[in-house]
Amino acid sequence: MTDAVVVGSGPNGLSAAIALAQAGIHVTVIEAADTVGGGTRSSELTLPGLIHDDCSAFHPMGVASPFLSSLGLDEFGLTWAWPEVQIGHPLDGGRAGILHRSVDETAAGLGIDGEIWRKLFGPLTEDFDDIVQDFLGPVVHLPKHPVTMAKFGLKALQPARLLGHRFATDEARGLFGGVCAHSFYELGKPTSSAAGLMLAAAGHRYGWPVAVGGSQAIADALAGKLQSLKGVIETGREVTTLSELSADVVMLDVSPSAVVSMAGDKLAPRIRRAYEKWKYGPSAFKVDFAVEGGIPWTNEDCRRAGTLHVGGTYGEIAAAEKESYRGTMPERPFVLVGQQYLADPSRSQGDTHPVWTYAHVPHGYDGDVVEPLIAQIERFAPGFRERIVGQFVRDPAAMAAYNANYVGGDISTGANNAWQIVARPRLGVDPYATGIPGTYICSAASPPGGGVHGMAGFHASRSALRHLAG
Ligand SMILES: Cc1cc2nc3c(=O)[nH]c(=O)nc-3n(C[C@H](O)[C@H](O)[C@H](O)COP(=O)(O)OP(=O)(O)OC[C@H]3O[C@@H](n4cnc5c(N)ncnc54)[C@H](O)[C@@H]3O)c2cc1C
Repeated sequence: MTDAVVVGSGPNGLSAAIALAQAGIHVTVIEAADTVGGGTRSSELTLPGLIHDDCSAFHPMGVASPFLSSLGLDEFGLTWAWPEVQIGHPLDGGRAGILHRSVDETAAGLGIDGEIWRKLFGPLTEDFDDIVQDFLGPVVHLPKHPVTMAKFGLKALQPARLLGHRFATDEARGLFGGVCAHSFYELGKPTSSAAGLMLAAAGHRYGWPVAVGGSQAIADALAGKLQSLKGVIETGREVTTLSELSADVVMLDVSPSAVVSMAGDKLAPRIRRAYEKWKYGPSAFKVDFAVEGGIPWTNEDCRRAGTLHVGGTYGEIAAAEKESYRGTMPERPFVLVGQQYLADPSRSQGDTHPVWTYAHVPHGYDGDVVEPLIAQIERFAPGFRERIVGQFVRDPAAMAAYNANYVGGDISTGANNAWQIVARPRLGVDPYATGIPGTYICSAASPPGGGVHGMAGFHASRSALRHLAG
């Protein structure tokens, strides 16, 4: 019987394992940590009974993923839950840009920019399922929906600044800039609007849901699905060299640098050079809080929002993102805040709630960012500080120690610059192939990149199956 080993049990590793097992291959997953899930784990980080997401929190791309949605993960305990408001972007003076599921409702809240929002996101939302089929895969391929994809591509190639300047109000511009800033990239550079366009359109098409019980439920459901296909999972074992593995297919849910260190001389010099040149991006400085009574946002809609993009106006966020990308710690960093408990009250204890936050900081930054992060939230929610009854900090070094794929604390496993969006992790017709026969890379460093969608794992497994078929 053909066998496969998958190194790493993140959503991409587990998806690759499932896709291979579905093809009748005997699969073993080897995971360094004691629990499965990689970036989809949850734990009681602050107070007993309070469930925090260690990493991923909101899953528009999880619901939209053609592969994950084909797996019937509800049978393995996965339930999505939606907050009332998908995204809040607080501004001074109690104002905010608000993203609702409905494009019309969102547009209605954006005043004179409403029509422009509708024109930008109405068609994208309608075409979203077609775009996803092409966007969530290798860049070099024959598009399934060429016309739709070309229309999307013309916008996605643009700098976020250009598209953002279509809007006149702080609310619309900020809302758009905040979503684009998920890419940890300079908003004035080409392609910096791609992630934001997709994430905002996904918010309209599917919302930004959380997994009931914590993101761990996604990992547990994927593991359950794999085990139902007779796959085996071994935790608490770190793979250090490819020589310790023997299988027809080896699937690596790891960073390009880890492939280099595991493969040694087995990599062709050309591919080794590409992996060594792979650039890592800014880092995340994560702080989880236990908050009595929730965050007292001045803006009422922000109190009902699952995700908040905290950093002020578009201009302020663009400046902070530019600094952190270029290696300078901004005085006022861009901060993401998650109020998952609004959609999933089972994560709270009485009126004490788990709040998930992280700031964008320069790659490998080793300073303390707790105060600047709290100050950013205080700016739009005075009194927040007094409500904190517990906190847990994971700085970039701790992030990297938590998961080897977060090199230097880069939670995207690679900078999302224009070159690396195309050459992921190297330029080639089959970006998953490492050139070592039967060995593939399937982590977020391969197409389509970061996020919990499992599509890198799925496409890498397709590449392996094509190779096996000869
Ligand atoms: C703070 C934070 C917030 C995020 N928020 C979101 C969000 O809201 N929504 C979203 O969609 N995405 C989010 N993400 C990103 C998302 O979690 C990742 O993009 C996704 O998990 C990548 O999946 P992966 O399978 O490629 O790798 P990972 O999930 O990183 O998994 C890799 C696994 O491989 C294991 N491993 C590595 N090296 C070895 C080795 N040598 N031997 C054995 N095992 C090894 C690691 O321990 C890990 O378990 C967030 C990430 C972080 C950190």
